[in-house]
Amino acid sequence: MSDKKELIIKSAEKYRQLTFDAERFIWKHPQTGYTEWAANEYLIEKFEALGYKLIRADQDPKFGKIPGFYTDIDTGKPGPTLAIMGELDALDIANHPESVNGMCHSCGHNAQAASMLGMAAALTEPGMLDGLCGKIRLILVPAEEMIQLAFRSGLIKEGTISYMGGKVEFMHRGYFDDVDIAMMVHQSNAGDDIDFTCGLGNNGCMAKTITYKGKSSHAGGAPHMGINAQYAAMLGLQACNDLRETLQEKDTIRFHPILKGVNCAVNIIPDEMVIESYVRGKSIEAMKRENKKFNRALAGAAAAMGCTLHIDDKPGYSPEIHDRMFMELVEETCKDLVGAERVKFNYENWSTGSSDFGDLTCVMPGVQFQSSGATGTGHGIDYYLSDPERLCINGIKAQLLVADKLLSDGAACAKAIIDQYEPRYASIKEFFEDIAAFDMDKEAVSYEEDGTVKLDFQR
Ligand SMILES: [Zn+2]
Ligand SMILES: [Zn+2]
Repeated sequence: MSDKKELIIKSAEKYRQLTFDAERFIWKHPQTGYTEWAANEYLIEKFEALGYKLIRADQDPKFGKIPGFYTDIDTGKPGPTLAIMGELDALDIANHPESVNGMCHSCGHNAQAASMLGMAAALTEPGMLDGLCGKIRLILVPAEEMIQLAFRSGLIKEGTISYMGGKVEFMHRGYFDDVDIAMMVHQSNAGDDIDFTCGLGNNGCMAKTITYKGKSSHAGGAPHMGINAQYAAMLGLQACNDLRETLQEKDTIRFHPILKGVNCAVNIIPDEMVIESYVRGKSIEAMKRENKKFNRALAGAAAAMGCTLHIDDKPGYSPEIHDRMFMELVEETCKDLVGAERVKFNYENWSTGSSDFGDLTCVMPGVQFQSSGATGTGHGIDYYLSDPERLCINGIKAQLLVADKLLSDGAACAKAIIDQYEPRYASIKEFFEDIAAFDMDKEAVSYEEDGTVKLDFQR
């Protein structure tokens, strides 16, 4: 083992307890996106105690107050900036046995956030930056899970945020403007025999809030006086389901609506039904194309039943495509750390989930790989972080070793990856211009006095 590798491993292990304490604290204080104040405050205090100067998203004079922050570790020598990220947010999953106020870290982001602290601490050890150039930006990001769409739309309307996802919002705020390359580790439940996994990438997504409005009336005595918004919503979803056979496998489209429930009693014709959904897909183009069809179906159903329809479409996350050369470097590093048999990288594997890390991969080379040690089902009520040593400490070691490889020898590795990377957009600005095409907030079905129905479901 080289001296530097030994130093990195020792430094990661030295702060094991600090990392584990943070992991438990954040697990016990779960909060959903853009409300992760407990974890934020805890980590700010610990980072500052380590001597780090933070750029805080709740103290940015140009933007609304949200959790999250970053710090730059400058080697003092010119070179690329590597971003390493950890997420702060939990899920709404009230029936998890350890949920607090209806929330739980059933995606394991608490382990990511804790690992960022462990990594920050390890990087204060003497010699850790020796031989490196450029900067390491450690970023704690809010709101990866794109949930509570109405709440986030409200935050957008009041000007607190501009985008649903935390990394996209941070891109908008300029926190990635001078970043050249990005990585992060997510938790996984790959089992006892595997420590690290990674696939080629995953679907992008966009967010939909769909509101059918009808008219309430006595459900038994005068249903003819009412307009049933629930039936219209069901009809709309039936039409979307019938469209599924027109979807093409190559686009890996996913449409998974939830009915948000009615605000009335069984003896009243429901006058409103809200549906939340994503449209996910392998490319922005496919998502745009299929979303148009779903909107047409939803609007047609409203017209059939005499309801109005409001569609609030928002950009979500871009498809995540890992840079192959970067992925190979990460794979080699992981194998060197834990042994080849415990590492499973698949350069073809495509997941149909989504992450706002995908937005970063549109404009810079990036890899999001997984460290295992969780058990149960991701986003499920049986999800637990059972092996923090493998989840957190292994993840910290791997990321620090990758960072060391990227930025040593005049950052030759990082520069080679950056040079061969082909961005999907020439700039972050161009990226935002493209995803703006998802933004649509309007009455999609309305009626004129003579009963003429007006369908307006396209941007
Ligand atoms: Zn998740
Ligand atoms: Zn997650």
